[in-house]
Amino acid sequence: MPDFSSYINTGGCRCPYCGSYDISGKAFDIDETGVRQQVFCSECDAEWTDTYTLSSVIEADGSEIEKE
Ligand SMILES: [Zn+2]
Repeated sequence: MPDFSSYINTGGCRCPYCGSYDISGKAFDIDETGVRQQVFCSECDAEWTDTYTLSSVIEADGSEIEKE
């Protein structure tokens, strides 16, 4: 069973299937709902899709405004 909750909580740096760090992402696919990126593992050939949504903005002066 792939461990996607650890994958998400650690920022997506290890393969959720085999634990390898040898994962890479393809191009970002951007639209108004967010960003998607296909990711694959060179170790076990697993493939999945990461999704990103806008969570905060950092202003020019460095202050961060988070989504409520
Ligand atoms: Zn893997």
